[in-house]
Amino acid sequence: MSADLAFINTNIKTINPQMPFAQAITITKDRITKVGTNKEIESLIGENTVVLDLEGKTILPGLIDTHIHVADYGRCLLWLDLTSAKSIAELQAMLKEKVKQTKSDKWIVGQGWNETRFKEARMLTSEDLDEVVPDNPVILYREAAMICAVNTKALALSGVTEQSAVPKDGEIDKNPDTGKLTGIFRDTATTLVWQAVPEPTEAELLETTAYACQKISAAGITSVDWIVISENELPIIQKLHEQGRLTFRVNVVVPEALLEKAVSLRTVDSSVLRVGGALIVVDGYLDSKEAALVEPYSDETSNSGKMYLSEEALKASVKMAIRAGVQPVIHAMGDKAIDATLRVIEQSPQGTRFRIEQAAVLNKGLLERLRVQDVVISVQPKVISTEFTVWSAKERLGERAKWLHPIKTLLDAGVVVAGGSDCPMEPLSALLGMQELALRPSDPTQRLSVEDAMRIYTFDAAYCSGEEATKGSIEAGKLADLTILSSDPTGVKPDKIKDIAVDFVVVNGKILVAIT
Ligand SMILES: [Zn+2]
Repeated sequence: MSADLAFINTNIKTINPQMPFAQAITITKDRITKVGTNKEIESLIGENTVVLDLEGKTILPGLIDTHIHVADYGRCLLWLDLTSAKSIAELQAMLKEKVKQTKSDKWIVGQGWNETRFKEARMLTSEDLDEVVPDNPVILYREAAMICAVNTKALALSGVTEQSAVPKDGEIDKNPDTGKLTGIFRDTATTLVWQAVPEPTEAELLETTAYACQKISAAGITSVDWIVISENELPIIQKLHEQGRLTFRVNVVVPEALLEKAVSLRTVDSSVLRVGGALIVVDGYLDSKEAALVEPYSDETSNSGKMYLSEEALKASVKMAIRAGVQPVIHAMGDKAIDATLRVIEQSPQGTRFRIEQAAVLNKGLLERLRVQDVVISVQPKVISTEFTVWSAKERLGERAKWLHPIKTLLDAGVVVAGGSDCPMEPLSALLGMQELALRPSDPTQRLSVEDAMRIYTFDAAYCSGEEATKGSIEAGKLADLTILSSDPTGVKPDKIKDIAVDFVVVNGKILVAIT
């Protein structure tokens, strides 16, 4: 039988060690039918085959993002991007434009300003914002930190005054001379204003999430592990699926508390949409020193972090996920949390593919146990790089910093590592993730080859969700999900990988034209 679609004269990186490279590929319906040279696929080209000459472009297996918050990303796409503002005046001009397109009672939310880039070299104030936006409430988040600037209207709606109590681990800035609020909120105090921003309506959320889906396809992603944060995402996922607007495969991962509600999601094709995981959070983040450590933090010797779950509770949660037929997706960051997680895994019946989000602070013993149990480690490489511009691993962890996200060491030991973006916390881009893995600015000893980095976003990401038999490499019989790139990631300087253009993607055998 002749194929529906054929790509010839391409540079195919198959991520299949049996045949790493190929020149041509054929697709029939939703499957790859042949991979080889132009000559080898000739016999499958018939009258009705659409043949595309890709003139040397690179094809990778469809890229997979194992950790993305799609609905949140959609909301953020509507935010005003302030990263290019080089002065407060420039930022004010951007706000002025935005206010023209915004109804008078609607909030204006923005992100990405940074006073170190401003000509004026100072923080924003509520007066700066009031000057250009007196009527709409405004909240603008600073880059790479939990700091926001708000205007007077936003202060009024949130009910915060000079007399308001400051929440633990937060700060509300006041003018030292007058005692008046400056409009700057820090850390936990930022939620005082954020909670006054109304939740989007279901119709708004549907449209913003659909927009996020277009962006995800444009970034070359053909499968995601959609980490659900709030219950109101479930009907959105259902609707987008029914309306045919999910342009990539979705493995839904929900907080364990939402598992029962999520399993009622109806799917017409479980290879396109399925509920695949329950998120179980064992400890907090290193950033806020809530990752649970065996020994205390080096920069705060009375603090060893926090276990959010006892080992018994963790065991019960894991059992519940397995009983519901989904993967336990376990957030464990500190060595103490990872040790407890491994003990539960070691006592669980065989046959479940376990996955740990982060597994940040390791040691030799933990590494060996991860290998023996075949636990997949899910990492978000850009998050790792950004973190170490904010705090010092050496100061916080001392000698343990050597074992912080030791991705190369994990691969060398045979532990599978899968990659995600954590978008919208960090930009949506698997290519950027590969670049971070290859450059590893925070720890050059853990740099990966570009080939390994590509596997982390393809085959290993499919392995992470137990779908490696159908996805993750370019082989006859597998689902026809492909990402077509203008250049080969192994053929450019590592710091240019993120700039490679995604030409288009193929999902389920169909060409999707990328929307930029
Ligand atoms: Zn996340």
